[in-house]
Amino acid sequence: MNAFSRRGACPALSAPMQTGDGLLVRLNPVTGGLAPNLLIRLGESALRHGNGIMEVTARGSLQIRGLTAESARLLAAEVDVLGIAVRSGVPVETGPLAGIDPQEVADPRPLAERIRTAIEEAGLTGRLGPKVSVVVDGGGQLTMDTVAADVRLRAVRAGGDTFWSVSVAGDARSAKPLATVDAGAARDIAVAALRMVAEKGGEAHTRDLSERQLASLAGWRSFAPPSVLPDISPTGGEISSSRGGSLSAANSHIPTPAIGENEGDSLISPLVGEMSGRTEGGAVERPRSPIGLFNVDEGTAFGIALPFGSMPAQNLIELATKAAELGSTEIRLAPGRALLVLGLSPSACATLQSTAATLGFVTSPADPRTRIAACPGTPACASGNIATRTIAETIATESPDLLDTSLTLHISGCAKGCAHPGPAMLTLVGDENGAGLVVDGTAKALPAGYRPGYDAARGIAGIAAAIHDARHQGETAAACLTRLGASGIADLYRRNQ
Ligand code: SF4
Repeated sequence: MNAFSRRGACPALSAPMQTGDGLLVRLNPVTGGLAPNLLIRLGESALRHGNGIMEVTARGSLQIRGLTAESARLLAAEVDVLGIAVRSGVPVETGPLAGIDPQEVADPRPLAERIRTAIEEAGLTGRLGPKVSVVVDGGGQLTMDTVAADVRLRAVRAGGDTFWSVSVAGDARSAKPLATVDAGAARDIAVAALRMVAEKGGEAHTRDLSERQLASLAGWRSFAPPSVLPDISPTGGEISSSRGGSLSAANSHIPTPAIGENEGDSLISPLVGEMSGRTEGGAVERPRSPIGLFNVDEGTAFGIALPFGSMPAQNLIELATKAAELGSTEIRLAPGRALLVLGLSPSACATLQSTAATLGFVTSPADPRTRIAACPGTPACASGNIATRTIAETIATESPDLLDTSLTLHISGCAKGCAHPGPAMLTLVGDENGAGLVVDGTAKALPAGYRPGYDAARGIAGIAAAIHDARHQGETAAACLTRLGASGIADLYRRNQ
């Protein structure tokens, strides 16, 4: 076993991870995308060497499943022959429309490259854990708000110049702001934070840094913006007091919410995943879905998603073949288990949308499948106790009304909760008793009721029917569920045995 082959680590192309259906590799093209013909060749390699399943993760990484040690080596060699340069080292991620979005505040790629170089020069790559990451977000139509990172930099404009808001440990909602500074200082703070993490050991993240360390990062000598910036925090929270035991930001008008606890590629941010009737009317502000049409510098980007992040390689090949026929120049991977097809005319986008829908891709942000987080479950994962994806498809087909934008349903093959580590309004979790229902909790919580795994969708249909009958006008599904209460929901789930 190498350093990356344990569960929970990052299964790079050179270090596959063992799963229930063989080895899994993850690869991120350095350019963020692939020409359609390269995606076709890669799909053919996946068919030749894996079990024919390809995935795009919540963070926008490409995964190939079902490999053996030997076939993983052959796959890596073929990727090499194809000339696909894959990312190595500490991930420094930019948005899927970076550099081509007319609405972005700044192109994040030059700063991302400076940070990659600085990390290498500081000798940090081998000293940081495989899940430590940096996000450099230029803003625009598709932000990186839902992607958690150890260090996040977000472009902001002030006085006609670009500055970078630096925060640590979380997604856009949960990360702890440090300072808003120019690009050079942003790079320095990012590398200094990673150096502090490295000194704490290979399992550490920025969430493990002390208040004193955060204060020293926030006080980094820098060129600060000339005027007070607007509050860019999703929460608009207050900064936490002074240097005496708590963080004092270099720019003290920057708000400071609590540090989040997010990690891993499997993570779906609360911005994506939640929930829950806690806000007025049950509504939750969400970033824009990657599914749909986006104006970009040289035309249109067309976004589609893989249902639950997974698709047979043959379907990806057919999609890429059609995209190439229609004139696509590149297919980018995007957070939210999505693909962005570039270089198409509006009419070609319409044609490809029809093809994608026929192949089973998600082509509408309103598709109920986007409201379900489901891990591979059985039979793909040896730890799984229920057929998560089959249950998810049945629920999406039979109970779409339940899945409005107010809530996420999480279906987990076991208590590990890979697809959605945070709490969800409804979680189905497989264990030795069948499919347990957790209300407003995580997959690790004690289920309030059970049904046999094969029959779980019927229990959810019972809940959906009750919501249909009990909902007030304008009330969201999440708000209605909150009103029904946990024990009432569990009772509905158990009925119709
Ligand atoms: S949560 Fe799903 S994918 Fe993760 S270990 Fe359990 S069954 Fe496997």
